[in-house]
Amino acid sequence: MGAYDENNIFVRILRGDIPCDKFYEDEYALAFNDIHPKAPVHVLVIPKGAYTDLQDFGTRATAEEITGFYRAVSRISKDLGLEEPGFRAIINTGVNGGQEVPHFHVHILGGRALGPMLVRPA
Ligand code: AMP
Repeated sequence: MGAYDENNIFVRILRGDIPCDKFYEDEYALAFNDIHPKAPVHVLVIPKGAYTDLQDFGTRATAEEITGFYRAVSRISKDLGLEEPGFRAIINTGVNGGQEVPHFHVHILGGRALGPMLVRPA
């Protein structure tokens, strides 16, 4: 995806330059409600470190950062009350993945049956 953009919207939220509707924060992750929710529950979880996407995070992050981040994702899903009857986690990556914000993030969606994962184009 190229060099990390130091002014992307999510790093500005991390820096406190712009507000977010925060749900959870710890040493490794920040979670907040998506500004354009696609489901009754739509939370974004982002790592504290500067990583552009899934590949960058999986390649450069330390084992501690990766463990801490994914433990936070699991905890947040539980705290949102989504473990039962289930939810969807989405990681859009790059152009074909439809990633709009170049700071790695996991979408957690739930609160209703979400239907098929992808709709086949007509
Ligand atoms: P993606 O397409 O995977 O990069 O998703 C980016 C997501 O960020 C979209 O669902 C947007 O609605 C969401 N988003 C963009 N700006 C903000 C913001 N300031 N606060 C919360 N969510 C945002």
